Amino acid sequence: NKQLVLLKQLPEGYPVVGEHIDVRESTIDLEAPLQEGQALIKVHVISIDPFLRSSMRGNSRDEHIPPVDVDQPMYGYTLSTVIKSNIDKFQQDDIVVGITNLEEYTTISSSDPFFSVTRVRNDIKNSVLPLSYYVGVLGMPGHTAYAGLFEVGKPKKGETLFVSAAAGAVGQIVGQLGKILGLRVLGSAGSDEKIAYLKEIGFDAVFNYKTTSNISEKLTELAPKGIDVYFDNVGGETLEAVLENANRFARIVACGMISTYYSEKDIGVRNLMKIVPKHITLEGFAVFDYMHLEDQFTNEVTQWLKEEKMKYRESTTNGIDGAAQALVDAMHGKNNGKQIVHVSSP
Ligand code: NDP
Repeated sequence: NKQLVLLKQLPEGYPVVGEHIDVRESTIDLEAPLQEGQALIKVHVISIDPFLRSSMRGNSRDEHIPPVDVDQPMYGYTLSTVIKSNIDKFQQDDIVVGITNLEEYTTISSSDPFFSVTRVRNDIKNSVLPLSYYVGVLGMPGHTAYAGLFEVGKPKKGETLFVSAAAGAVGQIVGQLGKILGLRVLGSAGSDEKIAYLKEIGFDAVFNYKTTSNISEKLTELAPKGIDVYFDNVGGETLEAVLENANRFARIVACGMISTYYSEKDIGVRNLMKIVPKHITLEGFAVFDYMHLEDQFTNEVTQWLKEEKMKYRESTTNGIDGAAQALVDAMHGKNNGKQIVHVSSP
């Protein structure tokens, strides 16, 4: 029996498995004829990303993230094989990566602009790297780290970079790209285990924000020369502390503000005024605006992974029946590295 991840009810704050999301049997008929412009795919890997929470709002705060209707399957990034296709660009046995419903078997439609971002990646069929990397370090999160750090952060060798949620999918890549570029790299994360990992992959100084009583003082201690680039994944108190420790002409890469995602209210930044006298640039960005960098990003990061100049840690849940729990656990920061769900092998 085939299964899917279902949105049962809109959550307030953190969702609960069984109440807001669940794994249910799918009614898909694998023998049914495909309509024109449709393809049937078999999902192998599901990527658990923070935007899945954003899709559980009745109306999204982010135009890139359409809301999911109650009683409908959740969507997200997957890696899959095409089973049969009525879409010209997809052939049987192609490996495809992109946004699809979170189902063991699902259909994609060429007429839906959102789902049509799914594209063929047959180049990875014989890759020596794990297939799951293509929804992680070599997929959307890696692309986010690369574009955000280089294009928005504009770092220069010798500068000090600070990354929050540093042990997550995006953060661990940002820090390692910073080291490759010759930056001094600081990071924060929420457990001692994650802190140990950050040291292992070359971060120069790290701290557990959950056991640090004063983040601003900690940053002053760890960055005596001040912060030049802050890659912000969390917003909130950490962003406020960075504003106090940022240098003149510092760049703040506003990638995400995960500490605010579970609140229904928008939360202000206490000392935003600091950006005025310090000439700080605070720039938001969406990875979708940097698709032109995809080949460059893929080639460089693939090379660094093969040369072991970069490492990548994943947290794997086996089987789609664990997907709803994996999603909720990741929202609580229980993921050690990029959270994925292994659904099936190709
Ligand atoms: P992950 O799910 O891999 O990691 C997120 C981590 O955030 C968690 O593991 C947790 O680790 C930490 N976290 C959770 N809640 C809080 C909190 N209240 N305060 C501080 N830290 C918290 O996420 P990604 O690496 O995939 O994403 C990182 C950020 O990048 C997110 O904000 C996401 O929305 C954003 N993003 C933006 C994109 C863009 O185009 N702008 C594209 C992709 C992602 P810990 O134990 O350290 O608390």
